[in-house]
Amino acid sequence: MSSYTVISPVTEKSVAEIVMADLQQTDAVIATAAKAFESWRKVTPGDRAKLLRKFAALVDTYNEELAQLEVLNSGHTIGNARWEAGNVRDVLNYYSAAPERLFGRQIPVPNGIDITFKEPLGVIGVIVPWNFPMPIAGWGFAPALAAGNTVVLKPAELTPMTAIRLGEIALEAGIPAGVFNVIPGKGSIVGERFVTNPLVRKIVFTGSTTVGKHIMQGCADQVKRVTLELGGKSANIIFADADIEKAAAGAPGAVFDNAGQDCCARSRILIQRSAYDKFMELFEIAVKKFRVEDPSLDTAEMGPLISAQQLARVKEYVPADTEIAFQGNKPAGDGYWFAPTVLTPKDTKDRAYREEIFGPVVSVIAFEDEDDAIRMANDSEYGLSGSIWSRDIGRAVRVSRAVEAGNLSVNSNSSVRYWTPFGGYKQSGLGRELGPDALDAFTETKNVFFDTQA
Ligand code: NAD
Repeated sequence: MSSYTVISPVTEKSVAEIVMADLQQTDAVIATAAKAFESWRKVTPGDRAKLLRKFAALVDTYNEELAQLEVLNSGHTIGNARWEAGNVRDVLNYYSAAPERLFGRQIPVPNGIDITFKEPLGVIGVIVPWNFPMPIAGWGFAPALAAGNTVVLKPAELTPMTAIRLGEIALEAGIPAGVFNVIPGKGSIVGERFVTNPLVRKIVFTGSTTVGKHIMQGCADQVKRVTLELGGKSANIIFADADIEKAAAGAPGAVFDNAGQDCCARSRILIQRSAYDKFMELFEIAVKKFRVEDPSLDTAEMGPLISAQQLARVKEYVPADTEIAFQGNKPAGDGYWFAPTVLTPKDTKDRAYREEIFGPVVSVIAFEDEDDAIRMANDSEYGLSGSIWSRDIGRAVRVSRAVEAGNLSVNSNSSVRYWTPFGGYKQSGLGRELGPDALDAFTETKNVFFDTQA
Protein backbone atom coordinates (compact mmCIF):
# COMPACT_ATOMS: atom_id res chain seq x y z
CA MET A 1 0.00 0.00 0.00
CA SER A 2 1.57 3.33 -0.98
CA SER A 3 1.20 6.58 0.88
CA TYR A 4 1.78 10.26 0.19
CA THR A 5 3.37 12.75 2.56
CA VAL A 6 1.52 16.06 2.56
CA ILE A 7 3.94 18.98 2.91
CA SER A 8 2.96 22.40 4.25
CA PRO A 9 3.83 25.04 1.60
CA VAL A 10 4.54 27.48 4.45
CA THR A 11 6.91 25.43 6.62
CA GLU A 12 8.05 22.82 4.04
CA LYS A 13 7.44 20.24 6.80
CA SER A 14 5.28 17.13 6.54
CA VAL A 15 1.80 17.54 8.01
CA ALA A 16 0.06 14.25 7.16
CA GLU A 17 0.58 10.83 5.67
CA ILE A 18 -2.21 9.84 3.28
CA VAL A 19 -2.84 6.28 2.13
CA MET A 20 -3.17 6.14 -1.66
CA ALA A 21 -5.68 3.74 -3.19
CA ASP A 22 -4.50 1.12 -5.67
CA LEU A 23 -6.45 -0.25 -8.62
CA GLN A 24 -8.25 -2.97 -6.66
CA GLN A 25 -9.34 -0.55 -3.94
CA THR A 26 -10.50 1.93 -6.56
CA ASP A 27 -12.59 -0.74 -8.31
CA ALA A 28 -14.02 -1.84 -4.97
CA VAL A 29 -15.16 1.71 -4.09
CA ILE A 30 -16.60 2.24 -7.58
CA ALA A 31 -18.56 -1.03 -7.16
CA THR A 32 -19.85 0.19 -3.78
CA ALA A 33 -20.93 3.49 -5.37
CA ALA A 34 -22.72 1.59 -8.16
CA LYS A 35 -24.58 -0.49 -5.58
CA ALA A 36 -25.47 2.60 -3.52
CA PHE A 37 -26.88 4.24 -6.66
CA GLU A 38 -29.75 1.73 -6.73
CA SER A 39 -31.11 2.99 -3.42
CA TRP A 40 -29.94 6.65 -3.58
CA ARG A 41 -31.83 7.28 -6.81
CA LYS A 42 -35.00 6.06 -5.08
CA VAL A 43 -34.69 8.37 -2.05
CA THR A 44 -37.67 10.69 -2.36
CA PRO A 45 -36.89 14.19 -3.70
CA GLY A 46 -37.82 15.81 -0.39
CA ASP A 47 -35.63 13.46 1.63
CA ARG A 48 -32.68 13.89 -0.73
CA ALA A 49 -33.08 17.67 -0.43
CA LYS A 50 -33.14 17.43 3.39
CA LEU A 51 -29.97 15.34 3.45
CA LEU A 52 -28.15 17.85 1.23
CA ARG A 53 -29.30 20.72 3.44
CA LYS A 54 -28.05 18.84 6.51
CA PHE A 55 -24.72 18.27 4.74
CA ALA A 56 -24.55 22.02 3.99
CA ALA A 57 -25.37 22.91 7.60
CA LEU A 58 -22.57 20.68 8.90
CA VAL A 59 -20.08 22.12 6.41
CA ASP A 60 -21.05 25.49 7.88
CA THR A 61 -20.57 24.19 11.43
CA TYR A 62 -17.10 22.95 10.49
CA ASN A 63 -16.20 26.04 8.41
CA GLU A 64 -13.31 27.12 10.61
CA GLU A 65 -11.88 23.59 10.89
CA LEU A 66 -12.05 23.09 7.10
CA ALA A 67 -10.51 26.53 6.51
CA GLN A 68 -7.62 25.86 8.91
CA LEU A 69 -7.04 22.49 7.23
CA GLU A 70 -6.76 24.24 3.85
CA VAL A 71 -4.30 26.78 5.23
CA LEU A 72 -2.21 23.88 6.57
CA ASN A 73 -2.41 21.72 3.44
CA SER A 74 -2.46 24.31 0.64
CA GLY A 75 -1.12 27.56 2.13
CA HIS A 76 -4.31 29.42 1.16
CA THR A 77 -4.91 32.65 3.01
CA ILE A 78 -7.31 32.12 5.90
CA GLY A 79 -9.73 34.64 4.37
CA ASN A 80 -9.84 32.70 1.12
CA ALA A 81 -10.07 29.33 2.89
CA ARG A 82 -13.10 30.45 4.92
CA TRP A 83 -14.75 31.63 1.70
CA GLU A 84 -13.92 28.28 0.04
CA ALA A 85 -15.56 26.21 2.80
CA GLY A 86 -18.50 28.63 2.69
CA ASN A 87 -18.73 28.07 -1.05
CA VAL A 88 -19.15 24.31 -0.52
CA ARG A 89 -22.00 25.07 1.90
CA ASP A 90 -23.62 27.49 -0.54
CA VAL A 91 -23.34 25.13 -3.52
CA LEU A 92 -24.87 22.31 -1.47
CA ASN A 93 -27.72 24.58 -0.36
CA TYR A 94 -28.28 25.83 -3.92
CA TYR A 95 -28.51 22.31 -5.38
CA SER A 96 -30.54 21.02 -2.41
CA ALA A 97 -33.42 22.81 -4.13
CA ALA A 98 -32.92 20.69 -7.25
CA PRO A 99 -34.33 17.24 -6.37
CA GLU A 100 -37.86 18.70 -6.07
CA ARG A 101 -37.43 20.71 -9.27
CA LEU A 102 -35.95 18.18 -11.70
CA PHE A 103 -38.68 18.88 -14.21
CA GLY A 104 -39.22 17.06 -17.43
CA ARG A 105 -41.56 18.28 -20.17
CA GLN A 106 -44.88 17.27 -21.58
CA ILE A 107 -44.75 17.69 -25.35
CA PRO A 108 -47.94 17.72 -27.46
CA VAL A 109 -48.09 14.69 -29.78
CA PRO A 110 -50.97 12.95 -31.64
CA ASN A 111 -52.59 9.80 -30.18
CA GLY A 112 -50.96 9.96 -26.79
CA ILE A 113 -48.86 11.74 -24.24
CA ASP A 114 -45.16 12.45 -24.52
CA ILE A 115 -43.14 13.10 -21.37
CA THR A 116 -39.45 13.65 -20.80
CA PHE A 117 -37.68 12.57 -17.60
CA LYS A 118 -34.34 13.66 -16.23
CA GLU A 119 -32.73 10.44 -15.10
CA PRO A 120 -29.54 10.24 -13.06
CA LEU A 121 -26.53 8.75 -14.83
CA GLY A 122 -25.14 6.45 -12.14
CA VAL A 123 -21.64 6.79 -10.67
CA ILE A 124 -19.96 10.13 -11.38
CA GLY A 125 -16.15 10.36 -11.19
CA VAL A 126 -14.99 13.78 -10.00
CA ILE A 127 -11.27 14.52 -10.49
CA VAL A 128 -10.08 17.62 -8.63
CA PRO A 129 -6.91 19.75 -9.02
CA TRP A 130 -4.86 21.18 -6.16
CA ASN A 131 -5.55 24.88 -6.63
CA PHE A 132 -9.08 25.10 -5.16
CA PRO A 133 -9.60 21.73 -3.46
CA MET A 134 -12.89 22.53 -1.74
CA PRO A 135 -14.90 24.61 -4.22
CA ILE A 136 -14.01 22.53 -7.28
CA ALA A 137 -14.96 19.33 -5.43
CA GLY A 138 -18.30 20.87 -4.43
CA TRP A 139 -19.10 22.11 -7.94
CA GLY A 140 -18.94 18.48 -9.02
CA PHE A 141 -20.39 16.48 -6.14
CA ALA A 142 -23.26 18.77 -5.06
CA PRO A 143 -25.24 18.82 -8.35
CA ALA A 144 -24.28 15.19 -9.02
CA LEU A 145 -25.77 14.01 -5.71
CA ALA A 146 -28.80 16.30 -6.06
CA ALA A 147 -29.67 14.71 -9.41
CA GLY A 148 -29.63 11.23 -7.81
CA ASN A 149 -26.16 10.07 -8.82
CA THR A 150 -23.51 8.63 -6.54
CA VAL A 151 -19.98 10.05 -6.56
CA VAL A 152 -16.40 8.83 -6.44
CA LEU A 153 -14.09 11.81 -5.94
CA LYS A 154 -10.32 11.88 -6.34
CA PRO A 155 -8.59 14.87 -4.79
CA ALA A 156 -5.22 16.01 -6.16
CA GLU A 157 -2.24 14.16 -4.68
CA LEU A 158 -0.98 17.42 -3.11
CA THR A 159 -4.26 18.49 -1.45
CA PRO A 160 -6.38 15.60 -0.16
CA MET A 161 -7.07 16.78 3.39
CA THR A 162 -10.25 18.86 3.07
CA ALA A 163 -11.80 16.37 0.61
CA ILE A 164 -11.31 13.52 3.09
CA ARG A 165 -12.93 15.63 5.81
CA LEU A 166 -15.88 16.50 3.53
CA GLY A 167 -16.41 12.76 2.98
CA GLU A 168 -16.64 12.26 6.75
CA ILE A 169 -18.99 15.22 7.15
CA ALA A 170 -21.31 13.78 4.48
CA LEU A 171 -21.62 10.56 6.49
CA GLU A 172 -22.25 12.52 9.69
CA ALA A 173 -25.03 14.40 7.85
CA GLY A 174 -26.73 11.08 7.12
CA ILE A 175 -25.80 10.72 3.44
CA PRO A 176 -25.84 6.90 3.18
CA ALA A 177 -22.49 5.07 3.01
CA GLY A 178 -21.36 4.51 -0.56
CA VAL A 179 -23.14 7.57 -1.98
CA PHE A 180 -20.26 10.06 -1.68
CA ASN A 181 -16.82 8.42 -1.71
CA VAL A 182 -13.47 10.19 -1.50
CA ILE A 183 -10.57 8.15 -2.89
CA PRO A 184 -7.11 9.72 -2.45
CA GLY A 185 -4.66 8.42 -5.01
CA LYS A 186 -2.58 9.07 -8.06
CA GLY A 187 -4.05 10.49 -11.23
CA SER A 188 -2.36 7.78 -13.24
CA ILE A 189 -4.01 5.06 -11.12
CA VAL A 190 -7.26 6.22 -9.50
CA GLY A 191 -8.05 8.96 -12.04
CA GLU A 192 -7.31 6.70 -15.01
CA ARG A 193 -9.51 3.99 -13.47
CA PHE A 194 -12.46 6.37 -13.31
CA VAL A 195 -12.04 6.73 -17.07
CA THR A 196 -11.62 3.01 -17.86
CA ASN A 197 -14.06 1.44 -15.35
CA PRO A 198 -17.42 1.14 -17.18
CA LEU A 199 -19.39 1.51 -13.92
CA VAL A 200 -18.34 5.18 -13.88
CA ARG A 201 -20.78 6.85 -16.27
CA LYS A 202 -19.38 10.36 -16.33
CA ILE A 203 -16.15 12.21 -15.57
CA VAL A 204 -16.05 15.74 -14.22
CA PHE A 205 -12.45 16.80 -14.61
CA THR A 206 -10.81 20.06 -13.58
CA GLY A 207 -7.11 20.41 -14.20
CA SER A 208 -4.52 20.96 -16.88
CA THR A 209 -5.43 21.05 -20.54
CA THR A 210 -2.92 18.26 -21.30
CA VAL A 211 -4.48 15.80 -18.84
CA GLY A 212 -7.98 16.94 -19.86
CA LYS A 213 -7.31 16.02 -23.50
CA HIS A 214 -6.01 12.61 -22.42
CA ILE A 215 -9.16 12.03 -20.33
CA MET A 216 -11.41 13.09 -23.20
CA GLN A 217 -9.66 10.57 -25.47
CA GLY A 218 -10.08 7.85 -22.84
CA CYS A 219 -13.77 8.66 -22.37
CA ALA A 220 -14.35 8.26 -26.13
CA ASP A 221 -13.77 4.53 -25.78
CA GLN A 222 -17.03 4.09 -23.80
CA VAL A 223 -18.69 7.27 -25.09
CA LYS A 224 -18.45 8.30 -21.44
CA ARG A 225 -19.90 11.70 -20.65
CA VAL A 226 -17.31 14.29 -19.71
CA THR A 227 -17.17 17.85 -18.42
CA LEU A 228 -13.78 19.56 -18.61
CA GLU A 229 -12.63 22.70 -16.81
CA LEU A 230 -9.09 23.36 -18.00
CA GLY A 231 -6.46 26.08 -18.17
CA GLY A 232 -6.68 29.79 -18.85
CA LYS A 233 -4.70 32.87 -19.80
CA SER A 234 -7.31 35.50 -19.25
CA ALA A 235 -7.12 39.13 -20.34
CA ASN A 236 -7.81 42.14 -18.16
CA ILE A 237 -8.69 44.73 -20.84
CA ILE A 238 -8.52 48.33 -19.65
CA PHE A 239 -9.66 51.17 -21.92
CA ALA A 240 -8.42 54.72 -21.41
CA ASP A 241 -11.99 55.88 -20.69
CA ALA A 242 -12.23 53.54 -17.66
CA ASP A 243 -11.89 54.38 -13.98
CA ILE A 244 -8.13 53.75 -14.13
CA GLU A 245 -7.73 54.12 -10.34
CA LYS A 246 -10.26 51.37 -9.72
CA ALA A 247 -8.86 49.11 -12.46
CA ALA A 248 -5.30 49.50 -11.12
CA ALA A 249 -6.34 48.94 -7.51
CA GLY A 250 -8.16 45.72 -8.45
CA ALA A 251 -5.58 44.33 -10.88
CA PRO A 252 -3.22 42.73 -8.29
CA GLY A 253 -6.04 40.71 -6.69
CA ALA A 254 -7.29 39.69 -10.14
CA VAL A 255 -4.04 37.88 -10.91
CA PHE A 256 -2.18 37.29 -7.62
CA ASP A 257 -5.08 35.91 -5.57
CA ASN A 258 -4.23 32.32 -4.51
CA ALA A 259 -0.65 33.14 -5.62
CA GLY A 260 -1.84 33.20 -9.24
CA GLN A 261 -2.80 29.52 -9.04
CA ASP A 262 -6.22 30.29 -10.39
CA CYS A 263 -7.55 29.21 -13.77
CA CYS A 264 -9.37 32.59 -13.96
CA ALA A 265 -6.27 34.66 -13.14
CA ARG A 266 -6.18 37.79 -15.30
CA SER A 267 -2.53 37.17 -16.17
CA ARG A 268 -2.49 39.34 -19.30
CA ILE A 269 -3.19 43.02 -18.74
CA LEU A 270 -4.09 44.80 -21.98
CA ILE A 271 -4.04 48.55 -21.41
CA GLN A 272 -4.90 51.23 -23.96
CA ARG A 273 -1.69 53.06 -24.86
CA SER A 274 -2.92 56.53 -23.94
CA ALA A 275 -3.55 55.37 -20.33
CA TYR A 276 -0.44 53.15 -20.05
CA ASP A 277 1.76 55.46 -17.95
CA LYS A 278 -0.99 56.45 -15.55
CA PHE A 279 -2.06 52.82 -15.07
CA MET A 280 1.49 51.53 -14.50
CA GLU A 281 2.19 54.18 -11.89
CA LEU A 282 -0.94 53.25 -9.91
CA PHE A 283 -0.50 49.52 -10.53
CA GLU A 284 3.03 49.60 -9.10
CA ILE A 285 1.76 51.20 -5.88
CA ALA A 286 -0.97 48.53 -5.62
CA VAL A 287 1.41 45.61 -6.28
CA LYS A 288 3.89 46.84 -3.67
CA LYS A 289 1.08 47.14 -1.12
CA PHE A 290 -0.22 43.61 -1.82
CA ARG A 291 0.30 41.65 1.40
CA VAL A 292 2.26 38.45 0.84
CA GLU A 293 2.68 36.88 4.25
CA ASP A 294 1.93 33.98 6.56
CA PRO A 295 -1.45 32.84 5.16
CA SER A 296 -2.86 32.17 8.63
CA LEU A 297 -2.85 35.94 9.31
CA ASP A 298 -6.17 37.67 8.72
CA THR A 299 -4.35 40.42 6.82
CA ALA A 300 -2.72 38.07 4.26
CA GLU A 301 -3.69 38.65 0.64
CA MET A 302 -1.36 36.01 -0.82
CA GLY A 303 0.43 32.95 0.52
CA PRO A 304 3.12 30.70 -0.93
CA LEU A 305 2.90 28.48 -4.00
CA ILE A 306 1.65 24.95 -3.46
CA SER A 307 4.93 23.02 -3.84
CA ALA A 308 8.66 23.17 -4.53
CA GLN A 309 7.90 21.84 -8.02
CA GLN A 310 5.39 24.61 -8.73
CA LEU A 311 7.87 27.21 -7.48
CA ALA A 312 10.53 25.81 -9.84
CA ARG A 313 8.03 25.89 -12.70
CA VAL A 314 7.12 29.53 -12.08
CA LYS A 315 10.80 30.50 -11.80
CA GLU A 316 11.40 29.04 -15.27
CA TYR A 317 9.16 31.78 -16.68
CA VAL A 318 11.24 34.48 -15.03
CA PRO A 319 14.89 33.56 -15.71
CA ALA A 320 17.68 35.72 -14.26
CA ASP A 321 18.01 37.90 -17.38
CA THR A 322 14.28 38.79 -17.50
CA GLU A 323 13.50 42.49 -17.57
CA ILE A 324 11.12 42.86 -14.63
CA ALA A 325 9.04 46.05 -14.56
CA PHE A 326 8.48 45.80 -10.80
CA GLN A 327 7.83 43.26 -8.07
CA GLY A 328 5.96 43.06 -4.80
CA ASN A 329 7.28 41.60 -1.58
CA LYS A 330 7.69 38.12 -0.18
CA PRO A 331 8.69 36.84 3.25
CA ALA A 332 12.20 35.50 3.83
CA GLY A 333 12.79 31.99 5.18
CA ASP A 334 10.98 28.70 4.66
CA GLY A 335 8.07 28.28 2.28
CA TYR A 336 7.52 28.21 -1.47
CA TRP A 337 7.32 32.00 -1.88
CA PHE A 338 7.43 33.93 -5.12
CA ALA A 339 6.97 37.69 -5.11
CA PRO A 340 4.21 39.19 -7.30
CA THR A 341 5.98 39.99 -10.55
CA VAL A 342 5.06 42.36 -13.36
CA LEU A 343 6.56 41.89 -16.83
CA THR A 344 6.27 44.17 -19.85
CA PRO A 345 7.05 41.94 -22.85
CA LYS A 346 8.10 43.51 -26.14
CA ASP A 347 5.52 41.56 -28.10
CA THR A 348 2.82 38.92 -27.81
CA LYS A 349 5.17 36.08 -28.79
CA ASP A 350 6.72 36.17 -25.33
CA ARG A 351 6.38 32.81 -23.57
CA ALA A 352 5.33 34.27 -20.20
CA TYR A 353 2.64 36.29 -22.01
CA ARG A 354 1.23 33.29 -23.90
CA GLU A 355 1.45 30.31 -21.53
CA GLU A 356 -0.47 29.62 -18.36
CA ILE A 357 2.12 30.06 -15.59
CA PHE A 358 -0.13 29.34 -12.61
CA GLY A 359 1.93 31.64 -10.42
CA PRO A 360 2.02 35.34 -9.43
CA VAL A 361 3.35 36.65 -12.73
CA VAL A 362 1.50 39.09 -14.97
CA SER A 363 2.40 40.52 -18.38
CA VAL A 364 1.28 44.04 -19.32
CA ILE A 365 1.09 45.11 -22.93
CA ALA A 366 -0.41 48.16 -24.66
CA PHE A 367 -3.12 48.18 -27.35
CA GLU A 368 -4.24 50.96 -29.67
CA ASP A 369 -8.01 50.69 -30.13
CA GLU A 370 -11.04 48.47 -29.58
CA ASP A 371 -10.37 46.14 -32.53
CA ASP A 372 -6.79 45.75 -31.41
CA ALA A 373 -7.87 44.88 -27.86
CA ILE A 374 -10.36 42.24 -29.04
CA ARG A 375 -7.83 40.69 -31.43
CA MET A 376 -5.17 40.51 -28.72
CA ALA A 377 -7.56 39.12 -26.09
CA ASN A 378 -8.67 36.37 -28.47
CA ASP A 379 -5.14 35.53 -29.60
CA SER A 380 -4.91 32.60 -27.18
CA GLU A 381 -5.75 28.90 -27.26
CA TYR A 382 -7.66 29.48 -24.01
CA GLY A 383 -10.94 31.26 -23.31
CA LEU A 384 -11.99 30.96 -19.69
CA SER A 385 -12.36 34.36 -18.10
CA GLY A 386 -11.51 38.05 -18.37
CA SER A 387 -12.36 41.62 -17.41
CA ILE A 388 -13.31 44.69 -19.45
CA TRP A 389 -12.91 48.18 -18.00
CA SER A 390 -14.66 51.07 -19.74
CA ARG A 391 -17.15 53.83 -18.91
CA ASP A 392 -18.62 53.56 -22.42
CA ILE A 393 -21.54 51.16 -22.07
CA GLY A 394 -21.76 50.49 -25.81
CA ARG A 395 -18.09 49.54 -25.91
CA ALA A 396 -18.45 47.33 -22.84
CA VAL A 397 -21.30 45.46 -24.52
CA ARG A 398 -19.47 45.16 -27.88
CA VAL A 399 -16.24 43.95 -26.33
CA SER A 400 -17.90 41.51 -23.93
CA ARG A 401 -19.78 39.98 -26.88
CA ALA A 402 -16.60 39.75 -28.97
CA VAL A 403 -14.18 38.25 -26.43
CA GLU A 404 -14.15 34.46 -26.75
CA ALA A 405 -14.37 33.46 -23.08
CA GLY A 406 -16.97 31.81 -20.86
CA ASN A 407 -16.88 34.16 -17.84
CA LEU A 408 -16.41 37.88 -18.22
CA SER A 409 -16.86 40.80 -15.87
CA VAL A 410 -17.25 44.47 -16.77
CA ASN A 411 -15.72 47.07 -14.43
CA SER A 412 -15.09 44.22 -12.01
CA ASN A 413 -12.83 41.18 -11.71
CA SER A 414 -15.41 38.96 -10.11
CA SER A 415 -16.70 36.19 -12.34
CA VAL A 416 -17.52 33.20 -10.13
CA ARG A 417 -20.93 32.87 -8.52
CA TYR A 418 -22.45 29.50 -7.70
CA TRP A 419 -25.78 30.43 -9.26
CA THR A 420 -24.35 31.51 -12.65
CA PRO A 421 -22.74 29.22 -15.24
CA PHE A 422 -18.98 28.68 -15.25
CA GLY A 423 -16.81 27.16 -17.97
CA GLY A 424 -14.50 27.79 -20.86
CA TYR A 425 -14.37 28.43 -24.60
CA LYS A 426 -11.75 26.79 -26.83
CA GLN A 427 -9.13 24.77 -24.94
CA SER A 428 -10.32 26.06 -21.55
CA GLY A 429 -12.94 23.37 -21.35
CA LEU A 430 -16.10 21.63 -22.38
CA GLY A 431 -19.50 22.10 -20.76
CA ARG A 432 -20.56 24.36 -17.91
CA GLU A 433 -20.65 23.92 -14.16
CA LEU A 434 -22.74 25.77 -11.55
CA GLY A 435 -25.83 27.83 -12.23
CA PRO A 436 -29.33 26.66 -13.05
CA ASP A 437 -28.34 24.38 -15.94
CA ALA A 438 -25.64 22.25 -14.26
CA LEU A 439 -28.19 19.52 -13.54
CA ASP A 440 -28.40 18.85 -17.29
CA ALA A 441 -24.78 17.69 -17.15
CA PHE A 442 -25.64 15.11 -14.48
CA THR A 443 -28.79 13.66 -16.05
CA GLU A 444 -29.87 11.91 -19.23
CA THR A 445 -33.05 13.09 -20.90
CA LYS A 446 -35.43 10.17 -21.40
CA ASN A 447 -38.39 10.59 -23.71
CA VAL A 448 -41.42 8.33 -23.18
CA PHE A 449 -44.48 8.18 -25.43
CA PHE A 450 -47.71 6.77 -23.94
CA ASP A 451 -50.24 5.60 -26.52
CA THR A 452 -53.69 6.58 -25.26
CA GLN A 453 -55.78 5.20 -28.12
CA ALA A 454 -58.58 2.85 -27.14
P1 NAD B 1 -3.46 18.17 -13.37
O1 NAD B 1 -4.11 18.05 -14.69
O2 NAD B 1 -2.04 17.74 -13.26
O3 NAD B 1 -4.23 17.33 -12.27
C1 NAD B 1 -5.60 17.50 -12.02
C2 NAD B 1 -6.15 16.22 -11.44
O4 NAD B 1 -6.08 15.19 -12.43
C3 NAD B 1 -5.39 15.70 -10.22
O5 NAD B 1 -6.30 15.14 -9.31
C4 NAD B 1 -4.52 14.61 -10.84
O6 NAD B 1 -4.18 13.59 -9.91
C5 NAD B 1 -5.44 14.05 -11.90
N1 NAD B 1 -4.76 13.34 -12.99
C6 NAD B 1 -3.48 13.50 -13.42
N2 NAD B 1 -3.22 12.65 -14.44
C7 NAD B 1 -4.35 11.94 -14.66
C8 NAD B 1 -4.71 10.92 -15.58
N3 NAD B 1 -3.86 10.44 -16.47
N4 NAD B 1 -5.97 10.43 -15.54
C9 NAD B 1 -6.87 10.91 -14.65
N5 NAD B 1 -6.58 11.86 -13.74
C10 NAD B 1 -5.35 12.39 -13.75
O7 NAD B 1 -3.67 19.68 -12.96
P2 NAD B 1 -3.18 20.41 -11.63
O8 NAD B 1 -1.74 20.73 -11.79
O9 NAD B 1 -3.61 19.67 -10.42
O10 NAD B 1 -4.09 21.72 -11.67
C11 NAD B 1 -3.70 22.86 -12.31
C12 NAD B 1 -4.47 23.05 -13.62
O11 NAD B 1 -5.88 23.04 -13.39
C13 NAD B 1 -4.21 24.35 -14.29
O12 NAD B 1 -3.93 24.16 -15.65
C14 NAD B 1 -5.50 25.13 -14.14
O13 NAD B 1 -5.74 26.10 -15.10
C15 NAD B 1 -6.50 24.07 -14.13
N6 NAD B 1 -7.72 24.51 -13.49
C16 NAD B 1 -8.83 24.79 -14.24
C17 NAD B 1 -9.99 25.23 -13.65
C18 NAD B 1 -11.21 25.53 -14.45
O14 NAD B 1 -12.27 25.55 -13.87
N7 NAD B 1 -11.15 25.73 -15.72
C19 NAD B 1 -10.04 25.37 -12.28
C20 NAD B 1 -8.90 25.09 -11.54
C21 NAD B 1 -7.76 24.64 -12.16
